Amino acid sequence: MGRMIDLVRPDNPLLRHGEPPRFDLVEAAHVEAAIRDLIARQEAGCVALEGSLVPTWAGLVEPLRRLMEPLSFAWSVVSHLLSVRNSPELRTAHERVQGEVVTAGMRIGQSEPLYRGLMQLKGDGYVGLDPAQRRAVDASIRDAELSGIGLQGAARERFNALEIELSELGTRYSNQLLDATKAFALTLTNVADVAGLPASALAQAAASARAAGHADASAEHGPWRITLEIPLYLPFMEHAKRGDLRERLYRAYVTRAAAAPHDNGPLIERILAARREQARLLGFASYADLSLSIKMAQTAGEVEKLLAELRDAARPHAERDLAELTAFARGETGDPRLVLRHWDIGFWAERLRERRYGYDEEALRPYFALPRVLDGLFALARRLFGIDIHSTDGVVPVWHADVRFFQVHDERGQQIAAFYLDPYSRPAEKRGGAWMNVCLDRVRGSDGALRLPIAYLICNQSPPVDQTPSLMSFSEVETLFHEFGHGLQHMLTTVDHPEVAGINRVEWDAVELPSQFMENWCYHRPTLLSLAKHWQTGEALPDEVFTKLDAARTYRAGSQFLRQVYFSTLDIELHRLPDDGSVAGVVARVAAGNTVLPPLPEDRFLCGFSHIFAGGYAAGYYSYKWAEVLSADAFAAFEEAGLDDAEAVARTGRRFRDTVLALGGSRHPAEVFAAFRGRGPSTVALLRHNGLG
Ligand code: ZN
Repeated sequence: MGRMIDLVRPDNPLLRHGEPPRFDLVEAAHVEAAIRDLIARQEAGCVALEGSLVPTWAGLVEPLRRLMEPLSFAWSVVSHLLSVRNSPELRTAHERVQGEVVTAGMRIGQSEPLYRGLMQLKGDGYVGLDPAQRRAVDASIRDAELSGIGLQGAARERFNALEIELSELGTRYSNQLLDATKAFALTLTNVADVAGLPASALAQAAASARAAGHADASAEHGPWRITLEIPLYLPFMEHAKRGDLRERLYRAYVTRAAAAPHDNGPLIERILAARREQARLLGFASYADLSLSIKMAQTAGEVEKLLAELRDAARPHAERDLAELTAFARGETGDPRLVLRHWDIGFWAERLRERRYGYDEEALRPYFALPRVLDGLFALARRLFGIDIHSTDGVVPVWHADVRFFQVHDERGQQIAAFYLDPYSRPAEKRGGAWMNVCLDRVRGSDGALRLPIAYLICNQSPPVDQTPSLMSFSEVETLFHEFGHGLQHMLTTVDHPEVAGINRVEWDAVELPSQFMENWCYHRPTLLSLAKHWQTGEALPDEVFTKLDAARTYRAGSQFLRQVYFSTLDIELHRLPDDGSVAGVVARVAAGNTVLPPLPEDRFLCGFSHIFAGGYAAGYYSYKWAEVLSADAFAAFEEAGLDDAEAVARTGRRFRDTVLALGGSRHPAEVFAAFRGRGPSTVALLRHNGLG
C-alpha cells in the first residue's frame, strides 16, 4: 500500500479536484496510483472524523463532503473517460481499483459513528438547518438504514448474507439470460426466408452469420443468421414475410432462460424471497413498501391508483388497435377469417404504420443539421427560461476534438453554469446511447465563494462527413432535447448544498420529468419549424411532414400503454407476494386483467425481465409511466397559458425554472411539482397527448 502511495506524483492530474478536469493530461497510467492514494487519504480522514465529529452541519456534513470529494471527483473522471475514450489500458486500470473504490464507499455509508452523528443532528431538531439541509441529512440516514445499519447481531449478519446472495443471484440471472439468448439462432439460406427484410437488417443478419463462422455470408446471398438479440430479432418480427419463421422466433423469445441449462425460474423465486426477508428485517411489510419508501410515490396504493387510471383509459384503445389491425391484415391478405397471433402483431403494425404515416426517416435528415438544431434549442431555452448559451470552445481541455463547450448566462449576463457536448458516435472508443452526467456540482464554500455546476451531455448521432454537417434523424433531435432537459436541472439549480443540488437526490420516479418535458417541444410546430430548415437550401420542413410526425406519435398508444401497465402491475404484485404466494398465479391473474391478447400458456417472460430481477427497477418499473405523467402535465401548464402567447410562455417557463429546475433534490418532488403546478399531478394531459383522453 505504502509503496503505491509513494509513487503518486504531485502533478498527477487526477489529484486536482473542484475544477474542470485536465482531459488533455489524464492518462490510464495515472489511474491506479491516484485512486489508491485518494482511498488511503479518505480512509485516514474518515477515522479522524469519526473521532472528532460534532453533530452539526459544519461539524459533520461539510467535513464529510470535503473528505469524499477528491476520490469521488477523480473516480467520476475515470468513469467518464471509460465511456467516451475507452482503451484497453484504461479498462484494465479501472478494473484493478474498482472493487477498492466500492469498498471505500461502503465503509463510509456503514460507519456507525457517522450514522450516530447524523441521528443526533436530526434528534436535536436540525438546529440551524434549512429544509434542503434537512433533506440531505434524512437521505443519508435513510441510506445507512436501508443498508442495515440499525440491525444488531444475528439480524445484521442475516441481512448482510442476503445482500451478498442477492447480488450473486442478480449476476447469475443476467448471465443465464445472456447465455440463453446466445444459445438460439436461426440460420437462413433461402432468399425467400428473408423476404421483406430491409437492407440494413439483411446486412446485420449477414454480419451475424460471418461472426458465427460463415465466412462468405453476404447481405445479398446469405446465409443470414437471426438471433434473439433485439437489433436482429425486432426487424425480423416487424418485416419478415414468413409467418412460420416469426412464430419460431417468437416462441423462442418468450421462453428464453426458462429451461435447463439456463433456467432462471428458480432464481426468480429465490430473489423474491430474499428481498421479502430483507424488507421484513428493515421493518417493511413487503419489498414493494421498501422500494416505495424512497420514491415520489410513497405507497403501493398510489402506484396502483395511477396504473388503474391508465389501464382504464388504454384498454378500449388497445382493443380497437387489435380490431383495426385485424381488419387491415384481412384486407391485405384477402383472408376474411384471418386471426392475428402474437408473432403477427409487429409485422402488420409496421405495414399499417407505413400506409398511414409513410415518410422516409432518412429523407428528413437534411432538415436537421446540428448547428441549426442547437441554435433552435438555445433560442427555446432563452424564450422559456431567460438564459443565454454561448459557445466557448477552447477555454477548457476536452477529451476529443469534436467535443464542444458552452457557457450558460442568466438574464443579467452573469455566468451560472457550463456544459460539454459530445455529439457524435465513435464506436471504437465511445459507449452507445445518450446520457447526461455531472462533471461538477454547484457548491458554496465556507468562504462564501460559489463554484458553478458543469454537465456532460453525451449523444451518439451521425458525425459530419467532409463539408456536410451532422444531419440528425428526428429521433436524434428528440434525444438531444431529452438530455438537455436533464442538463438544465443540473445547471439551473439554485441550491448551494451539493448533497441535494441539481439532480442529486431527486427520486427515481421523478428524475425524468425535465428531460421528457423538453421532448414535448419537438412536437410544438413553431419550435420544430424554427430549427428544421434544409441545410443547403434553407427550405422549411414541409408542413405535411410535420403533421405526419405529430400524428405518428399517438399510433397504437393504447396498446403500448397497456403493455407498460401490465409490466408495472406485475412488478408491484410480485414484490408484495406473501410467503406462500405463487408466482405463476400472480402472472396469470395480472395477465388476465392487463392484456388484450393473453400470453401463450408456455410464455415465461419473467425469465427475461432483467429490469426487475437484475437491474435497479425492482418495484419501480412503474417509474417510466409515473414520470411521463409529470412531464406531460408540466407541458400542459404551457398549453393552458397559451403556447402562442410569448409572454405567458416566458412567465410559465420562469416558474418551471424557479421550481422544478432550481429546487431539484432539495425538496420532496411532490412538493416541487405542486409549487410549479399549484396542485398535484394529473393523468389528463398524458392521456390527451396520446389520443387516449
Ligand atoms: Zn433520461
